[in-house]
Amino acid sequence: DRMISGDLQEDDLQVEQSLRPQILRQYIGQEKTKRNLSIFIEAAKMREEPLDHVLLYGPPGLGKTTLASIIANEMGVQFRTTSGPAVERAGDLAAILSSLETGDVLFIDEIHRLPRAVEEILYPAMEDFFLDIVIGQGDSARSVRLDLPPFTLVGATTRAGLLSAPLRDRFGVLSRLEFYEEKDLSHIIKRTADIFEMEIEDDAANEIASRSRGTPRIANRLLKRVRDIAQVNDMDTITVDITKEALNMLQVDAAGLDHIDHKYLLGIIDKFQGGPVGLETLAATIGEESQTIEDVYEPFLLQKGYIQRTPRGRIATFEAYRHFNREVND
Ligand code: ATP
Repeated sequence: DRMISGDLQEDDLQVEQSLRPQILRQYIGQEKTKRNLSIFIEAAKMREEPLDHVLLYGPPGLGKTTLASIIANEMGVQFRTTSGPAVERAGDLAAILSSLETGDVLFIDEIHRLPRAVEEILYPAMEDFFLDIVIGQGDSARSVRLDLPPFTLVGATTRAGLLSAPLRDRFGVLSRLEFYEEKDLSHIIKRTADIFEMEIEDDAANEIASRSRGTPRIANRLLKRVRDIAQVNDMDTITVDITKEALNMLQVDAAGLDHIDHKYLLGIIDKFQGGPVGLETLAATIGEESQTIEDVYEPFLLQKGYIQRTPRGRIATFEAYRHFNREVND
């Protein structure tokens, strides 16, 4: 598994629950999203109505699941979760929906992966809180209307563009999570160190923050590895020196790039003279899936200006050349 991938890994599972902030005030960063949500939550509570449906989108590991559970906590309701790929048949979703209680938050992760037939039963459920289900087969088949308690759907996706228009239109609140600023990541790292009951120097927290690709899940993961190395060295405090040593050992460079980013960027620079090169060609050359490249590798490289996406393909920028101390030669 990649150290610096925002995807959830086996290793994250043990700690992730204990690190999750419970209320909006503990949720660090994402000021715009937080401000909007706190207004909508307060207004819904004043009206004694469930919150409007919320769509959270953005790269993996930025805290969508965390935010969804905070919404449930703040509204004082139950938090139920499922995911697009887990719901195979319309009946599965109907069962989940009909077990909800008034005001509950139903979280659907990777909502863009819901099968179309399943998605369609969501439309009336979201809009007017009822299910249209067909009972029986052939001649005896009939459609039954089942009322649902009002609830809040919180959908999460890494790819808002893949959502069908009818589904997207049924969300009242759309919020894009952004990569975190380093000062916010540093704050998250100190909070996590506190939960781990470890001392950490400010500079050490900043060092991890600067290599975490704007992603809390990566920050927490790197901190865990650094902590391991500090502990085997019998240190009570995580110092900046041990942090640098540990991160270099983990092959995460000063900009938070790892060997796969290097392979990707150097692939464009060395094999395609800096591009443009088409996604599929590049994927085949470096032996990675194009979907993974698009969802996981590229968002950060784009945001940092190492690459550009053009109609003719990917281009390595001057920034990328400079990162590797290469001359641009054309
Ligand atoms: P995915 O898209 O893969 O489901 P996600 O965006 O839902 O990921 P979470 O699981 O919510 O990400 O968050 C990842 C980890 O980062 C969690 O352990 C969580 O505690 C921590 N985290 C995320 N956002 C924050 C934050 N704003 N403040 C503190 N910790 C955070």
